[in-house]
Amino acid sequence: MSGKILIIEDEKAIVDILRFNLVKQGFETMEAYDGEEGLGLALSESPDLILLDLMLPKMDGFDVCRALREKDPVTPVIILTAREEENDKVVGLELGADDYITKPFSMRELMARIKANMRRTVQQPPRGKIGENCLVVGDLILNADSCEVFHRDQPVQLTAKEYELLKHLMGHPDKTVSREELLEKVWNYEYFGDMRTVDVTVRRLREKVEDDPAQPRYIITKRGMGYMLKS
Ligand code: CA
Repeated sequence: MSGKILIIEDEKAIVDILRFNLVKQGFETMEAYDGEEGLGLALSESPDLILLDLMLPKMDGFDVCRALREKDPVTPVIILTAREEENDKVVGLELGADDYITKPFSMRELMARIKANMRRTVQQPPRGKIGENCLVVGDLILNADSCEVFHRDQPVQLTAKEYELLKHLMGHPDKTVSREELLEKVWNYEYFGDMRTVDVTVRRLREKVEDDPAQPRYIITKRGMGYMLKS
């Protein structure tokens, strides 16, 4: 695998082991030991993915995530959180992170999460063109070749997980899809994972593709069952 990964973490021992393993896997890494420096690098260096600790000096991970998302809605962010901080991951997801991993984690688990969240790089995207690899529902167009989404001909900036979630739902219009299925297909969680991850990402997606996120036209909640994309 290749790509540039920004590690924002103040514990040097964790940074060292992350860097060692990521470089071994073929990634390039950049490190920041506090939130301010991390946000600066995230904005100036355009990493392909960000690993973000929450408890950081100068600026905590939540503030980094919030500030980053104001300027950059797409770079995947994986939160590194301690197991006892169960609620933090939901707050992080609400602020725009894409995924989380709980410390202590295995490198195998981390690599799987990185792979699942890396944005696909696309060569010469056929911008906005409706081709055979396009999904169209109402005024929503998802181009699976270029990985672009348009709502009323306006491009919609989605993170990798928001995109995958929308793609899965648009691929099964008018069908109720359970949150378990979405976790498995979109997040590649097979035996674990938090259903709230799905709910939070749906909420964020609605804010980007619905005219009124409180009265969704496309992504409908099927209470107790899951979600459905209405054609
Ligand atoms: Ca820390």
